[in-house]
Amino acid sequence: MATEYANYINGEWVESATGASFAVTNPASVDEIVSYHPASTKADVEDAVDASVAAQDEWAHTPGPSRGSVLRETGELLAARKGEATETLVREEGKTRSEAAGEVQRAIDIFHYYAEKCRDLGGTVKPASASEMDLYTKREPLGTVALITPWNYPIAIPAWKLAPALAAGNTVVLKPASEAPNASRILLECLDEAGLPKGVANLVTGSGSEVGAPLTESDDIDGLSFTGSTGVGTAVAQTAAEDLTRVQCEMGGKNPTIVMPSADIEQAAELVGAGAFGTTGQSCTATSRAIVHESVYDEFVDAITGYAESLEVGPGLEDPDVGPHVSDSELASTLEYVTIGQDEGATLETGGIRLTGNDYERGNYVPPTVFVDVKNDMRIAQEEIFGPVLAVIEARDFEDAISTANDVDFGLAASIVTQNLSEANRFVDEIDAGVAKVNDKTTGLELHVPFGGYKGSSTNTYREQGDAGLDFFSSIKTVYKS
Ligand code: NAD
Repeated sequence: MATEYANYINGEWVESATGASFAVTNPASVDEIVSYHPASTKADVEDAVDASVAAQDEWAHTPGPSRGSVLRETGELLAARKGEATETLVREEGKTRSEAAGEVQRAIDIFHYYAEKCRDLGGTVKPASASEMDLYTKREPLGTVALITPWNYPIAIPAWKLAPALAAGNTVVLKPASEAPNASRILLECLDEAGLPKGVANLVTGSGSEVGAPLTESDDIDGLSFTGSTGVGTAVAQTAAEDLTRVQCEMGGKNPTIVMPSADIEQAAELVGAGAFGTTGQSCTATSRAIVHESVYDEFVDAITGYAESLEVGPGLEDPDVGPHVSDSELASTLEYVTIGQDEGATLETGGIRLTGNDYERGNYVPPTVFVDVKNDMRIAQEEIFGPVLAVIEARDFEDAISTANDVDFGLAASIVTQNLSEANRFVDEIDAGVAKVNDKTTGLELHVPFGGYKGSSTNTYREQGDAGLDFFSSIKTVYKS
């Protein structure tokens, strides 16, 4: 029997006002129900926001080191539950066991990182023009903030919003994606057990329209941090802007790796393949375009095709290389793009079908898929597919490669594989992306440096993670004291 879970509002686990719930299913075996969660509505959102507003002043005036102790303990409690949390991610989102374990560890590390930050939240002292004047800045919380998160990193993304928001003295209402809400539920259980005061963090599950929209529209929200698709994020940013709510939206990507003649082609294929097919291509930073110099194009196509075909696809619990798509609709969307790519005249080199039979029968599996002869104006080169699909595009020279890389509406992560220092330097300078990597895959982030995108990938106002994470969740007050 699947467990029925609740919302977490004002320090209590409570049903939604309507009592309705929705089921979470296992992408590796879609008949298996993992759990049930409240299908909440506006009334539940209002309860959570009210609790959050009521708790705000006291949390804001709790000394930083005391807030840090709660975050540190939360990290410890999550570490003690790492095995359970890992398995939960595998069962609700479809990640492989190794990917899920890495993500849970990332969430633990994030809580520990921001716990330490609570001892040094920043602020500077400057000499004033008048000798008797003290002139300094201090960081203050925004107030009550809304956090809206996607399913593809169901524990790391809530963690990288929750921890800095709480460290900076805000109270929060978290609305996770309905495909994978258990990871957030586990985080709130850890925060509760760590002694977080009532109302400081609240969890409300349910759909984007019934929970996300009322949260976005609430007059009592002082800041809104969203991660998800560009379509939804753009609408969220517009709504928030109407009453000047501070908003941060991190959204989709169409991330390129440029491969130049000096590259070791086997290494380039491994980097591109890991970036394209890891997490089943369901990463905002997934490599979706390989832009390859014409002199090494054929060699690269052979190498990446061989790499793709060497990967094992299967249920995440068996820890294969590639797991299932999170849902029927994501699977259908990937297969639709395969058809679009063929109709546009690209050549399907490998993959591109739904896997069926034995292990695959009840899961959402598409094997690593490579399209070659892709032109950059094709939809498969322009639109985020969010599945294990790579478009390989030929470039005449470095200038052509950079201009192709930049010729999309997104600008999240990009990389180049080259042994030529001047190409590497020019790439870093000329690429329109928030993350630029040399001789690396586009995926994979450090938690202590800023992360965010350019163009349609981000509202590009504030970054997430590192000190930038605190910057979004706080205001700087300048004090003149004589
Ligand atoms: P999504 O936009 O469908 O949903 C994201 C969240 O918004 C969910 O919690 C959803 O319920 C909620 N939502 C939906 N409609 C809403 C509305 N009208 N008002 C308020 N909230 C609403 O995205 P997804 O499918 O969960 O996630 C995949 C997308 O997220 C991809 O585009 C991916 O690139 C992006 N993503 C970006 C980053 C990043 O940091 N740039 C990281 C991970 C994922």
